Amino acid sequence: MQRISHWIDGKVVVGTSGRSGIVFDPATGEQQAAVDLASLAEVDHAIAVAKAAFPAWRATNLSRRAEVMFRLRELVDANRKEIATLLSKEHGKVLSDALGEVARGLENIEFACGIPHLLKGGYSEQASTGVDVYSIKQPLGVVAGITPFNFPAMVPMWMFANAIACGNTVVLKPSEKNPSSAMFVAELFKQAGLPDGVYNIVQGDKLAVDRLLEHPDIQAVSFVGSTPIAKYVYETGTKNGKRVQALGGAKNHMLVLADADLDMAADAAVSAAYGSAGERCMAISVLLASEAIADDLVAKIKDRIPAIKVGPASEDGNEMGPLITGEHRDKVAGYIGGATEQGATVVVDGRDDVPANGFFVKPSLIDHVKPGMRCYDEEIFGPVLSVVRVKGYDDGLALINDNQFGNGTAIFTRDGGAARQFEFDVQVGMVGVNVPIPVPVSYYSFGGWKASLFGDQHMYGPEGINFYTRSKVVTKRWPDPRTSQVDLGFPQNR
Ligand code: NAD
Repeated sequence: MQRISHWIDGKVVVGTSGRSGIVFDPATGEQQAAVDLASLAEVDHAIAVAKAAFPAWRATNLSRRAEVMFRLRELVDANRKEIATLLSKEHGKVLSDALGEVARGLENIEFACGIPHLLKGGYSEQASTGVDVYSIKQPLGVVAGITPFNFPAMVPMWMFANAIACGNTVVLKPSEKNPSSAMFVAELFKQAGLPDGVYNIVQGDKLAVDRLLEHPDIQAVSFVGSTPIAKYVYETGTKNGKRVQALGGAKNHMLVLADADLDMAADAAVSAAYGSAGERCMAISVLLASEAIADDLVAKIKDRIPAIKVGPASEDGNEMGPLITGEHRDKVAGYIGGATEQGATVVVDGRDDVPANGFFVKPSLIDHVKPGMRCYDEEIFGPVLSVVRVKGYDDGLALINDNQFGNGTAIFTRDGGAARQFEFDVQVGMVGVNVPIPVPVSYYSFGGWKASLFGDQHMYGPEGINFYTRSKVVTKRWPDPRTSQVDLGFPQNR
C-alpha cells in the first residue's frame, strides 16, 4: 500500500504518530494509499523548521526570490500532465479538468514572479522640510495554509506562491483525502532552488489544524473549505491573535432573464453545474429561470444531459468523474430523494444507472425548487442543479441577496442595462455577465461575501500580497544643523 508522508525541511519525513487516513480511488471505491496524520510534535517540528528558515529567506533579495518563482513556473509548466494525473487519480476529476486546475494554479505562480514590483511601497520626498516618508511591505513570518479536497493542486498555489514570494515561510496542511499533488509540487519547489524549510507540508486532520491555529509561532492562516470549518478556523485563529482569511462554502445562483440567448445559457448551466461533478465552490447549483422562458430552458438542459459521458477519469472520453467519497455520494443522493418529498420535480435523476463501483452520481436536474427545501437551502457540492422559477430580475435578485452565501453568481441577458444594474445590486463577491464561473484571473483577487468568506482580505492577487505582508512607514531625516532644534510640541509638518 502506498504511503504518503510529510514534507519538512526539504525532504519526505515519514510520520511517527501511528495514525493514518485512507486515500480512496473514487472511481473504484477501493483504498489506494494511506496518508500519515501528524501528531502535535510533528506539527510543532514543521513550524520550528519554518521558523528557523525565515530569517535567511526574508533576507534573500527580491531578484533571487523572483528567480526561484520563475524556475518553479517552468517546472510546473513542464509537469502539468504529471500533476494533473496525480490529482485526478485521488480526486476523481477527469484529466482535462485537472489540467485546467493546474493551469489556473500556475497563474498564481506567474503572478508571484512579479514580486519585486508587487512589494514596492510609496515614497514622499520632503513631507516636511528635510524629512522624507516611505512605506515598506514586510513578510509576517511563518504562515499556515489549510486546503480542501476539491482543488488539491490549485488552492495550495493560491496561498504559497504569494506567501513565499513575499518572504514568508509556510506550513501547508492539505486535504487528507488527496494529498499527493501538493507533495509533488513541493519537490519541484526544491528543484527550483527554494531553500529547505521555506515550504513544509504536514499531512493531518483536525488535530494538526488546531495546532496550527493555536501555535504562537504561526502569524497568519489561510483556509479554504466548508463554511462551518471556515467560521471555526476564523474564530479560533483570530482569538489566538492571528491574521486569518477563511473561505467557505457556496450556493451560486445563475439568473437567466427572458431576453437571454437560451442555447448559450443552457450550455453554460450544464458546464457550470456538472463540471468536476459539481465539486467546485464556483459551480452553479441554482438556476433562476424567468417564467417566460423557464419551460424552454429546462427542456434544453434536460436534452443536453444524456450526452455527458460519466465514468472513471482513467478512461478517455469521460467528461465527469465520481464524487470524492462514498459518504459524500450518499449525502448528495439524499438531496435528490429529499427534493421529491419536499414537493420539487426531479426531471433527471442522477442516481439511476450509475457505474457499479466507485462513488458516482450522474448529472441531476430538479425543477420547481423553492427556498425552504433542503436542496435549495444547503450546499450540496455535487452534480445537482436546482431550478427556481422567478418572475424576472427583481425576484431573482432578491433570492440571491437573501441567500446566506455570496461566493459567485452570474446573470445571462442581452440587456446591458440590466447586467450593469445587477453588478451594482448583487451582494456577491464574484460576478459573471454571461460567464457562468467568474473565477478572477490571478491579478485580481478571489473571495466571496457573507458566509463564503470570514476575514477582510480575499485570496491571491493584490489582496493576497496585502494578506501576507504588513506595512511599515518610515519617517526619515538626516542630520542637518540648520534644522535641528528642541521642540516638545507634537510633530507637525513645517
Ligand atoms: P472541509 O471544510 O471539510 O475541509 C477543509 C480543510 O479543513 C481540510 O484540510 C480538512 O482536513 C480540515 N478540516 C475538516 N474538518 C475539520 C475540523 N472539524 N476542524 C479543523 N479542520 C478541519 O472542506 P472540503 O470538504 O475539503 O472541501 C469542500 C468545501 O470547500 C465546500 O464547502 C466548498 O464550497 C469549499 N470550497 C470553498 C472555496 C472558496 O474559495 N470559497 C474553494 C474550494 C472549496
